[in-house]
Amino acid sequence: MLKTALHFSHQLLSECINPGECVVDATMGNGHDTVFLSQLVGETGHVYAFDIQDKAIESTQKKLTEQSIQNATLIKDGHEHAVSHLPYNIKIKAAIFNLGYLPRGDKHITTTSNTTLTAINQLLSILEESGRLVLVLYSGHEEGMSEKNDVLAFAETLPQDNYSVLTYQFINQQNNPPSVLCIEKKRA
Ligand code: SAH
Repeated sequence: MLKTALHFSHQLLSECINPGECVVDATMGNGHDTVFLSQLVGETGHVYAFDIQDKAIESTQKKLTEQSIQNATLIKDGHEHAVSHLPYNIKIKAAIFNLGYLPRGDKHITTTSNTTLTAINQLLSILEESGRLVLVLYSGHEEGMSEKNDVLAFAETLPQDNYSVLTYQFINQQNNPPSVLCIEKKRA
C-alpha cells in the first residue's frame, strides 16, 4: 500500500537521520514528531521543538515525561525565530514542519505563509549536506491552501545544483488529503 503523507514524511526523516545528530521539530503540535525524532537521534543527539501554544507544549511535555525522553528541548516561540534559540554555529540534519492548526485545538491559530517561509529559509541556512527539510502541507482549509501554494512556489525556485526538491501527493482523492514537500541539500 502507498504510504500516507504522514507516514512518508517519517520515512524521509528516518532515511536521513542518524544517532547523535541535531534536528528540529518546527511545529510541535501534540508532540508525535518530537517523540519520533528523539528516538531517531538517540541519547547522544538532540531535538529542538517549537510551538507558539501552551497547549502544544503541555501535551508534548506530557509525552516526553511518560516516555522518560531527555534529549528534547521545547521552545515556546515561533519557528520564524528558530535560529536565535539554537546553539551558536549549530548544523541540523533535518527539520519537520507539520503545518496547519492543532487537531482538536483553536482552528484560528494556524501556521502562515510568511512565517513558514522565514523559518524554511533560516533552517536551510543551517542544514547539513544531505540533510532534509520535510513539510506536511494541508490544503483542506483556506489559509492552508494559500500557504501550500506559497511554499511550493518558493521551493520551485531553489537552485537544482544545491537542492533536490520532491513533492508527494495523491491526486485522485477527495477532501484535499495532506501532501509532502521534501528539500534535500546536495553535497557540495
Ligand atoms: N495539521 C496537523 C497538525 C499541525 S499542528 C494535523 O492535522 O495533524 C501545527 C502546530 O503549529 C500548532 O500546534 C500551532 O500552534 C503551531 N504553530 C503555528 N504557528 C507557528 C509558528 N509560527 N511557529 C511554531 N509553531 C507554530
